[in-house]
Amino acid sequence: MTTLALISDLHSNLEALDVVLRRIEALGVDEIACLGDVVGYGTDPLPVTRLVMQRCRWTIKGNHDWGLFHGLDDFNPLAREALVYNRRLLQPSWLRPRRRAAWEFLRDLPERMQAYGFLFCHGSPRDPVMEYVLKSDGFLEPDKMQQLFGLIDRPCFVGHTHWPGVHRADFRFVQATDEQREFKLDGPCIVNVGSVGQPRDGDPRASFAVVDGDRVEIHRVPYDFRRTQAKILAAGLHPALAERLARGK
Ligand code: ZN
Repeated sequence: MTTLALISDLHSNLEALDVVLRRIEALGVDEIACLGDVVGYGTDPLPVTRLVMQRCRWTIKGNHDWGLFHGLDDFNPLAREALVYNRRLLQPSWLRPRRRAAWEFLRDLPERMQAYGFLFCHGSPRDPVMEYVLKSDGFLEPDKMQQLFGLIDRPCFVGHTHWPGVHRADFRFVQATDEQREFKLDGPCIVNVGSVGQPRDGDPRASFAVVDGDRVEIHRVPYDFRRTQAKILAAGLHPALAERLARGK
C-alpha cells in the first residue's frame, strides 16, 4: 500500500514548505500530492512552485492559483495585494523566460483528482476551487452538508479553510489536535489537511496529512516563522500578513 502525504495552502511560504518536506522525507512517505493554493499571501511564489513541481506527484488548483490568471474582485484587500505581488514575481517576460514553466504549471492545474479510491479538491466537492466547507457548517448549514455528502461515496480530501480536521457523515466536525490527530477513513467524510503556509486554527505550526491505507494522520511541524515574517515586511506587504503567522490565525 502506498503512503501519501497531502500538503495544501502553502501560500508562498518557503520556510514552512522546506520544513514540511523534510519531515515527510524523514517519515519515509512514498508520494506527495498538493491540494492547491501554492501561491498568495507570502513572498516566495517561484521557489515554492518549483519545489511543488519537483516533489509532488500531482497538484490541484486553489482559488489563489486561479486568481493569478483572473480578476481579483472577490478577494479581500490583503489577499488581493499579495496576489498582485505574487503575480509580478511569477509572470514570464522576454527578460525572464525561465519563469514560463512554473507559470504554465499554475495556469493548467486540474480542479479535482481521483486516486487511490479517494477524491481530492481544494474547496468542496460541489465547487472544487472556491467553496469553503467550514467547521461550523455541520450545525449552521445542514442543507449544504447534505448536498455535499450527496456528491461523495468515499473520503474526500480538501484544504482551503486552513483548519485541519474531519467532517463526519453525521456532519460533526472533529478538529485535529495533538490528542486527536489520527482518523479512520471508513466511508464518506471530508478531511481537511490544514495549511502548510498559513495555519488559522490558533496553532502556528505547519500542517499536513499522511494517508496510510484506511487511516489519515494530521502532522504539525514548527518552522521559523520569524524569517517568513521579516520577508513579508521587507516586501512591503501588509503587516497583518506577517503578524498572523505567529498566532496561527
Ligand atoms: Zn488558502
